[in-house]
Amino acid sequence: MPRELTASELERFPALDWSEISGRLTHSLRASLERVLETQDGSHLSLEESYELANSEGDDLLGLLVAANVLRADLTGNIVTYVVNRNINFTNICFVGCKFCAFSRGPREADSYFLTLEQMAEKAREAWRMGATEVCIQGGLPHGLPKFHYRDILRAIKNAVPGMHIHAFSPMEIVYGVELTGMPLADYLSMLRDNGLGTLPGTAAEILDDEIRHILSANKLSTAQWVEVIRTAHRCGIRTTSTLMYGHAETPAHWVRQMRLLREIQDETGGFTEFVPLGFVHQNTILFHQGLARTGPTLGEHLKVHALARLLLAGSVNNIQVSWVKLNRKLSQLCLHAGANDYGGTLMEENISREAGATAGQYTSPEDFQSLILEMGRIPAERNTTYSRIHIRRPLAEFTAEQALEAEFA
Ligand code: SF4
Repeated sequence: MPRELTASELERFPALDWSEISGRLTHSLRASLERVLETQDGSHLSLEESYELANSEGDDLLGLLVAANVLRADLTGNIVTYVVNRNINFTNICFVGCKFCAFSRGPREADSYFLTLEQMAEKAREAWRMGATEVCIQGGLPHGLPKFHYRDILRAIKNAVPGMHIHAFSPMEIVYGVELTGMPLADYLSMLRDNGLGTLPGTAAEILDDEIRHILSANKLSTAQWVEVIRTAHRCGIRTTSTLMYGHAETPAHWVRQMRLLREIQDETGGFTEFVPLGFVHQNTILFHQGLARTGPTLGEHLKVHALARLLLAGSVNNIQVSWVKLNRKLSQLCLHAGANDYGGTLMEENISREAGATAGQYTSPEDFQSLILEMGRIPAERNTTYSRIHIRRPLAEFTAEQALEAEFA
């Protein structure tokens, strides 16, 4: 039996070297890790080998974390990116009833709300004035939404701030928009693109396994529908993120199968910009209170999922993001040592995780991100949504000579 790691052993893993830990690993697991480190390609791992990594404990888990960190440095260097953005959750009224969601409300509840198009436009203007390059728009699904409401949101924002990148609408919202309009999926997505949709969040994925999905939300779109929306979006030239929610009713085998499915889609379309593991925040959810989920991820699971993603998605999805709202700042830093390279967005107004019981706050300023990243000995850089442009905002004089060289050529 592998020994159980203490929290402080886990927290100290960034100080370990590959040469120091590799001799203590199970032979087969070490061989898997070495193969990926050598080829920088996770497609060389079989399903069985991937399961072994996902189930690693003790020294094997430390080995996985260290290998992911080495691979991260090889594939993305020492730059940690972030995007200056604002969340706009335009309504919390929703009929879907996901059991892991503490954000949604019935239409008659006292604290339900629905922002007008003008209020959303004003939020976008304000964000632009504060330096945001992106608005991230998602909301609940209220009954009786005007047929073309999602398109009209895009028009309102683009009219107000033409330069703003709009990252909007989960695959669940897209399915709802298709239902409201009766349009074919590809036509509907193309219409949104032509009205200003830049990219689509790959949320509503949770765990892409219908049995687990049924536990989480009986009314949510199916795995096949999620995949169809994403593939069609990519084919329409709309890039998306990809996500996975962990720490509830799923097992490590689900993580592996989802990451392999995302790889398969990426091989076909190349449309994913990043992968974002989302730790389940259990406190205020029905899922937890009905005994259907564990109490969110353990420290080991948080680190393992980020490391596993770096290994399994190597050569396919290059950017692994930490969701700081769900992790808190210190744990985010640890996950950035376990294979991740992106801090996500400043957000300005995070609501969804906060309602579920997360306490990391609603906003991290660009300066805070920069300090947290410098504290880790890495190089902070602001990026746009698709990672096609990055800006080092700190004077090169603040870096070591080696870092300054990397920053200069970034
Ligand atoms: S996760 Fe989204 S779709 Fe599900 S209940 Fe919450 S707001 Fe509605």
